Amino acid sequence: MNRVYNFAAGPSMLPEEALEKAAAEMLSYGTSGMSVMEMSHRSKGYIEIFDHTVSLLRELMGISDDYEVLLLQGGATGQFAAVPMNLLKTKADYVDTGNFAHGALVEAQKYGAVNVVASSREDNYTYIPEIKPENVSKDADYFYITTNNTIFGTRYTSIPDTGSVPLVADMSSNILSEPFDVNKFGVIFAGNQKNIGPAGVVTVIVRKDLLGRARPDTPKIFDWQKMAEAGSMLNTPATYPIYMAGLCLEWLKKEGGVRVIYMRNQVKAKLLYDYLDESKLFKGTAKRECRSLMNVTFRTNDADTDAEFVKFATANGIANIKGHRLVGGMRASIYNAMPVAGVQKLIDVMKQFEAGKKL
Ligand SMILES: *Cc1c(COP(=O)(O)O)cnc(C)c1O
Repeated sequence: MNRVYNFAAGPSMLPEEALEKAAAEMLSYGTSGMSVMEMSHRSKGYIEIFDHTVSLLRELMGISDDYEVLLLQGGATGQFAAVPMNLLKTKADYVDTGNFAHGALVEAQKYGAVNVVASSREDNYTYIPEIKPENVSKDADYFYITTNNTIFGTRYTSIPDTGSVPLVADMSSNILSEPFDVNKFGVIFAGNQKNIGPAGVVTVIVRKDLLGRARPDTPKIFDWQKMAEAGSMLNTPATYPIYMAGLCLEWLKKEGGVRVIYMRNQVKAKLLYDYLDESKLFKGTAKRECRSLMNVTFRTNDADTDAEFVKFATANGIANIKGHRLVGGMRASIYNAMPVAGVQKLIDVMKQFEAGKKL
């Protein structure tokens, strides 16, 4: 069987070890005689699996007891609504750095006043605007950022200081890719399908003092406090994806955790950006100082050549390299599970293509 290097933005590549373990345990988990998919979410066996996933997240991210860790449904997109439903009383600050950031602020406008503190929308989100402490509204209920912009290939290289205003972060595409001090945040959420595990779960990390503030009309499955009280099980959780996330986190821990994977992620990104900077054919699309370590966006000088390259790459074992339609060109999503060898292979294929173009 030939596995390709999958550069998809999400759902994305998973560690092979995790997939193999899942395959080995498919028909019978432990001595249970049944697949994890067939277990009751209330059973002792399954609760152990759930708790194991949460405790790995806590360990790998250094999440203290001041925070709840919830594993919910409705995706990161559901949290675009859940954040204002749980926190917005009068006004919130939002930084508009991409399509998902924009979607989140449009959703929040249904629930209260949204102050767009800074935006790079006019420049097709090629950079992260600078945030100074004086940009933070002292009376805001929270301050909202998107730490990595999946479509545009940009990331915050430093986390804004919002003082006593709770910082809320959509970390979907770079959670666990670099060390973050969780204590700087009021809320962190992430759709699992980028860097945690398979799709079907949104991880929500919320500081306990922010619980219990939800609007009275908040549906209970979006109410963080009610979900915290019910151990994320007011309804049936995504049992299998939570188990799979646990296997992926076990792999990450074995690799050496976030610090080690961060070094590897820097190596991977540098290899690719260095090549883009020296290439005569391919150019990076994001501003240099804001370049993402997870999503590398680039293009050639014209759309036909881009399409030709995507075809060439696909024929050479490089899957899902086509860029998002809002940016065009190509995007290489190089999350934690993408090995250095995959990035090297991509660069080799790009070099071959570029050499062919010169002939
Ligand atoms: C993928 C993504 C989303 C959307 O996630 P869903 O789980 O599909 O709702 C939101 N924000 C960011 C930054 C993303 O990368």
